[in-house]
Amino acid sequence: MKLDGLIEDLEGIDVQSDAAIVRRKSRDCFYYSPVLKDELEGVTGDLVVTPRDEAEVLRVLAACYRHRVPVTSRGAGTGNYGQAMPLSGGVILSLAAMNRVKSIAPGRVVAEAGAVMSEIDAQAIAQSGQELRMYPSTVNAATIGGFVAGGSGGIGSIQWGGLRDLGNVLRLRVATMEAEPRLHDFTGEDLQKVMHAYGTNGVITEVEMPLTAAYDWVDVLVGFDDFMQAATFGNDLGNQDGILTKLISPLAAPIAQTYFTRHAKFLKPGQHVVLLMIAAHAMEAFEVFVGRGKGEVLYRGDTAPADVSKGLPHVHHLSWNHTTMRALNADPSITYLQVLYPFPNQLDRVRAMYDMFEGELMSHLEFVRFNGNITCFGLPLVKFSTKERLEEIMALHEDNGCPIFNPHRYTLEEGGMKQTDEVQLAFKRQADPLGLLNPGKMIAWDDPDYDYATGKLYLFPGLQQAG
Ligand code: FAD
Repeated sequence: MKLDGLIEDLEGIDVQSDAAIVRRKSRDCFYYSPVLKDELEGVTGDLVVTPRDEAEVLRVLAACYRHRVPVTSRGAGTGNYGQAMPLSGGVILSLAAMNRVKSIAPGRVVAEAGAVMSEIDAQAIAQSGQELRMYPSTVNAATIGGFVAGGSGGIGSIQWGGLRDLGNVLRLRVATMEAEPRLHDFTGEDLQKVMHAYGTNGVITEVEMPLTAAYDWVDVLVGFDDFMQAATFGNDLGNQDGILTKLISPLAAPIAQTYFTRHAKFLKPGQHVVLLMIAAHAMEAFEVFVGRGKGEVLYRGDTAPADVSKGLPHVHHLSWNHTTMRALNADPSITYLQVLYPFPNQLDRVRAMYDMFEGELMSHLEFVRFNGNITCFGLPLVKFSTKERLEEIMALHEDNGCPIFNPHRYTLEEGGMKQTDEVQLAFKRQADPLGLLNPGKMIAWDDPDYDYATGKLYLFPGLQQAG
C-alpha cells in the first residue's frame, strides 16, 4: 500500500510505521478461537495513527478518504471475534490518547472514546459516589468506545441487562468517513446505528453512559457438590429481590481447581463453584440465603484475613471471558462458545447441554437480566479437537434451543443473529460510502446475497488479497 502522500497529509499527528509496533497494535484477542487463529494470523495494518482530539480524528478520516486507505478503529484491542483486525490493512486508528473523563453528573458520565473503563469508574466513585452500571471483565484495559462498539455486557448485567438495552448508553458522538467527515450526536433509537457495529460505519469519539449508586462489593466463592445445584443457586439468587448482586458465575469442576491457581486452595476436589460479587450491606441476608440452600461459603473478601486475601485477583477477573483466558493460558488447546439459555427453561437447557457434553465441555454460566427476566449465558470451555467437531457442538446447541453467538467468526452477522442489520447498513451507506471503515466485517455491505444457511465461514475477498 502506498502511504507516502497520506503520511505527509497527517503531519503533526502521531503516526507510527515501525513494522513490529504496527503488527502488535493490529492484533486483538482473535486467537481465543482456533478457527480465527488460522484465518487471521497474518493480518496486519500499515500504520498506527493516534489522534489527540476530535479535530485530529476528522483530519485523519478526511486524509484516508482522499487516499482511499482503510481505517480500523482500536481501543485496547481486547475484543474477541477478530473485531479490530484490519483485514485489508491500512490505518489502525488508535483512540488511546483520547482518554479524558470530561464530566460527571448525577446519573451520567461523559468520556472520550479512548477512556479506560476502570478509570471512568474510579473517577465516578471518587467524585460522585456513583459507578458504571456494567463493565467487561477486561475493565482495567478496555476503552469505553471499544465496549460500545464491540462488547455486549458483563459485570453488572445481572442488575442492568446488556449494553443493547435501552438506557444503557445515553449518547454517542460519531465521526463519518466522507470527503468532509461530519460529527453526529446520537441518542435514543439512533444509537442502534453504531452500537455493536465494530466501527464499520463511524468512529465513536465521545460516549455518555448512565451511572448508578456505587457500593462496596464483596468477592465471594460458594461451593457445591453438584453442578446443577450451583446453577440453580445462581438462578435463585438472581431472583432474590432484596439481595444486591453484581456478578453470579457458576463454574463446573474442575475449572476453578485447574485454572484459578491462587483460588484453588479454597476448593475441594470435584467441587463446583459460584463466583459472586455481593453488596457489603447485603452480606448478612446473603449468608441466610446460602444457609437455606446446599452451598458452602468458601471465601468472603470482607472477612478473610489480610494474609489469605493478599495477591488474590478480584473475582471479576475470573469471570466472563477471563475464565477462558485463564484456561487458555494454562492449556492452549482450550477454546470457548457463547451460548444463550433462553428464559424460562434456562436451567433445563443448562442441564441438557451439561449432560450431552460431559467430559468435552466444562460449563461456565453468567447470570444476567435479559428482557426483564433472570436467565444465563454460557461461556463453556471446549477442549478443541477439530473445526468440524466445534461446528457440530454449536449445531447441537442450536438444535436444542440454545442460540450461539459464534466467537469463531469475524463478521457482525455470523457472530450475531445471522441476518442483516438494516439500520447499521443504511447508516454505513451514508457515513462510509467507499466502505473504508473496518472492511470485511459486515457481510451485508460486501455481499448482499450471501447465504448464511451454508454455515461456512465467510471469507472476505480483501482478506485473501492481504494474506
Ligand atoms: P477493541 O478490541 O479495541 O475494539 C472492539 C471493536 O470496537 C473493534 O471492532 C474496533 O474496531 C471497534 N472500536 C474500538 N474503538 C472504537 C471507536 N472509538 N469507534 C468505533 N469503533 C471502535 N466483552 C464483554 O462485552 N463482556 C465481558 O465481560 C468481556 N470479557 C472479556 C474478557 C477477556 C479476557 C477478553 C479477551 C475479552 C472480553 N470481552 C468482553 C471483549 C472485550 O474485552 C470488550 O468488549 C471490550 O470492551 C473491548 O474494548 P476495547 O477497548 O479493547 O475494544
